Amino acid sequence: MNSIVAIVGRPNVGKSTLFNRLVQRREAIVDSVSGVTRDRHYGKSDWNGKEFSVIDTGGYTIGSDDVFEEEIRKQVKLAIEEADLIVFVVNVEDGITPMDAEVAKLLRKVKKPIFTVVNKVDNAMREPDAVEFYNLGLGEYFTIASINGSGTGDLLDALAEKMPEPEQTIEQELPRFAVVGRPNAGKSSFINALIGKDRNIVTNIAGTTRDSIDTKYNRFGFDFNLVDTAGIRKKSKVKEDLEFYSVMRAVRTIEYSDVIILIVDATRGFEGQDQNIFWLAEKNRKGVVILINKWDLVEKETNTMRDFEAMVRKQIEPFTDVPIVFISVLTKQRIFKAIETAVEVFEKRKKKIPTSKLNDVMLEIIKNYPPPATKGKFVKIKYCMQLPTETPQFAFFCNLPQYVRDSYRRFLENKLREIYDFSGSPITIYFRQK
Ligand code: GDP
Ligand code: GDP
Repeated sequence: MNSIVAIVGRPNVGKSTLFNRLVQRREAIVDSVSGVTRDRHYGKSDWNGKEFSVIDTGGYTIGSDDVFEEEIRKQVKLAIEEADLIVFVVNVEDGITPMDAEVAKLLRKVKKPIFTVVNKVDNAMREPDAVEFYNLGLGEYFTIASINGSGTGDLLDALAEKMPEPEQTIEQELPRFAVVGRPNAGKSSFINALIGKDRNIVTNIAGTTRDSIDTKYNRFGFDFNLVDTAGIRKKSKVKEDLEFYSVMRAVRTIEYSDVIILIVDATRGFEGQDQNIFWLAEKNRKGVVILINKWDLVEKETNTMRDFEAMVRKQIEPFTDVPIVFISVLTKQRIFKAIETAVEVFEKRKKKIPTSKLNDVMLEIIKNYPPPATKGKFVKIKYCMQLPTETPQFAFFCNLPQYVRDSYRRFLENKLREIYDFSGSPITIYFRQK
């Protein structure tokens, strides 16, 4: 399982600048929560072969200083609970402020690795000023300048060292499903409907070093694991920031699963937070099934379902090839279908196309629709193969990989989807030099 790194600290110390450094060119998800002055960020990164997630926890509510400080305290506590590694950012220009001291006090009690980062050390002249931060009582610190990246390599080395070795991909027998969605979408009801009174729990396997739990179920003739995390049970403790909590929890749960069952409340539509969770799943190359729940509450006319589905597909472009099932947990409508679909996505995500067959089909298509010339360069694709990875990933070997446009990549992806049906699974395409 990949590690989660949380960046904490008071405003203006450079958290989001550091975040952008750590995730580099990789796309980040911006979570614009209503009522906060700025966005919260989630991104993926890797260093020395270790993949990890980074969360910039800096969403703050507008209000009096008291509210403000309370908010920071809350974010730090959540980060402490949910993350594996904590990066505490302070600003060399300001020295130790009362808020820094307060955060340090919270962090000193924590058993997880803490990295104190003194930011804005833009030049060697500021280096001696950083010494003061020993007084935080958190031991060694790193001096960096997020703005130009100096010092971030050493920080990343140290972070990576504390992360577990990448797991060997073990051939696992059972699909791991995670039920995620906004608060109140119907997740617990769905799980209860699924498990019912005749619970058929076969085993409880504590997941790795963390406290997430795989519970094995057998329902409707399918065997699968439902991924639960410690967070789910802690839910009631943190009422104030349920949205943030559900994102943190989704990050953790998604990383640990094969197929994401995204439950959407039909009465609320497909909202920003639903999309965030969807893209989290996509970026992590997980299978996805979208369940539109509470369909019993929707007043239906001839095309209601069709229109709703079209609206959702429009919002998940270009990865539109995702099963969407309309359910009602209340009336148990299509609950079986939902699980059946998740199992199908699991199977499709594992599918491997033999190289010779793939070349027969794809090279013919490429011959008829070759990549358009870019800047006078003609790209010739000579050969392709599906990589022996856990998820669908394809390599196309060609003379000038850097000249292949994104539109052509999408064209190939659409063809692969059309011909081989990878519905619900993200596909990755690489162009490589031959
Ligand atoms: P956050 O509120 O903690 O997320 O802080 P931001 O990342 O938004 O940064 C606050 C301000 O500090 C911005 O104007 C940044 O450009 C600036 N800043 C961030 N890192 C550095 C740095 O290493 N050196 C200097 N001089 N300024 C920085
Ligand atoms: P969670 O926060 O996502 O776990 O959501 P819950 O499972 O706690 O459900 C939130 C509320 O929606 C509860 O009051 C449920 O009874 C209700 N609910 C869940 N599914 C349905 C459904 O299919 N139809 C209707 N009408 N209500 C539902």
